[in-house]
Amino acid sequence: MPHLQQQSDMMDKLVSLCKRRGFIFQSSEIYGGLAATWDYGPLGTELKRNVKDVWWRSIVFERGDIEGLDAAILMRPETWMASGHVSSFEDTLVDCKSCKKRFKVEHVNGKSCPECGGELTEARQFNLMLKTHLGPIEDEGSLTYLRPETAQGIFVNFKNVLDSMRRKIPFGIAQMGKSFRNEVTTKSFTFRSREFEQMEIEYFVKPGTDEEWYHRWVEERFSWYIRFGIRKENLRKRQHEKHELAHYAKACTDIEYRFPFGWSELEGIANRTDFDLKQHSRLSGKEIEYFDDETKERYIPYVIEPSGGIDRSILAFLCDAYREEEVRGEKRVVLGLHKSLAPLKVAVLPLLRNRQEIVELAGRITDDLRVRMRVKYDDTASIGRLYRRQDEIGTPYCVTVDVDSLADRKVTVRDRDTMKQDRIDVSRVKEYLTERLES
Ligand code: ATP
Repeated sequence: MPHLQQQSDMMDKLVSLCKRRGFIFQSSEIYGGLAATWDYGPLGTELKRNVKDVWWRSIVFERGDIEGLDAAILMRPETWMASGHVSSFEDTLVDCKSCKKRFKVEHVNGKSCPECGGELTEARQFNLMLKTHLGPIEDEGSLTYLRPETAQGIFVNFKNVLDSMRRKIPFGIAQMGKSFRNEVTTKSFTFRSREFEQMEIEYFVKPGTDEEWYHRWVEERFSWYIRFGIRKENLRKRQHEKHELAHYAKACTDIEYRFPFGWSELEGIANRTDFDLKQHSRLSGKEIEYFDDETKERYIPYVIEPSGGIDRSILAFLCDAYREEEVRGEKRVVLGLHKSLAPLKVAVLPLLRNRQEIVELAGRITDDLRVRMRVKYDDTASIGRLYRRQDEIGTPYCVTVDVDSLADRKVTVRDRDTMKQDRIDVSRVKEYLTERLES
């Protein structure tokens, strides 16, 4: 385990790389920034799309038992009464009377401010939901919330999906999208943001089979992170003690990642029982039941919920991928991202930028690759520096066009991790790269 100082240095380096290379910027930066909100730059946007894509593919495409959904962020306020968010989605907070900082009660040890030693106020309840008003009149009747989780959009559509897709239990519904929480502690880069994206599955099962499905989903989700590049030694499962469980849960396991700032939750897998469907049925007055054609049984399904954060997983993928190496006496910074996550798949680099034929050939190769993969042409520096730039943003392959290419119609393909170089026929470059990127 690296030294604490090294770990916080590593976080600083990553934050700076993210800004410098267009992954993540502070929101509203020119106005001094808005706390705990972040903008994804050009490369961060690609990375985020790729994370969402691999999640969707592995959950919705590769399994046959899950449907997708894209529900609205704004919902009827009754939703949040049924779910328990209006009454209990709260933090208990204390304020420092001198420095005015606010802390979660569980983060304070004793009666004085952990930052300035000042006197603290009595603890108060604070609801984490962001409120808004719909329509022209801002009164109680127009009050609604920005969703604090995507899950409820799934529960209220359970019947719609079940009936329209003619599903049988067990089956699941998956959804990705923005959620909002008025978080109090907002340190650690994007880890705890006020606006963030979730990737959630509600998997509906017959009561009695819930415990088996719960364990299956914990394993399934744990291996997903490893499949896309997180080192196993940096992941662990943490089962919640009875007293930690949320009001709706019978069991919950967090998948935690060893971030530079300590082990922290990436995703939670909860057995939510029939709590949500029952609650929505009660408050809406609508029957939400499943009828099993074969056994003629009628029941409210139990739900297993794997609920992950897209931004948190991006942060974990970045932390895990970041490495510094020494190559022939020089420092090399590499983002060893999984190929399917890398923002750019290939960079085409002309060795000599003042030789017209070389530049033209490199341009033609770029255009040819563009339709198949995210590619970048770059001729703005020497080859050594161009390679370093691509290593730092995790581009798996670089294609270099040199003087010999003009005669032998071959180019050099360099692998980011091994730095091994292969000489490939120009006509085979697309096929060569596609094969490797899809493997
Ligand atoms: P924490 O205890 O860290 O606040 P939580 O247990 O409240 O998280 P859940 O309600 O279980 O989180 O949400 C599911 C997932 O959504 C989390 O595992 C996390 O990946 C993500 N998530 C929750 N809150 C945030 C946030 N403020 N910023 C970024 N991601 C978040």
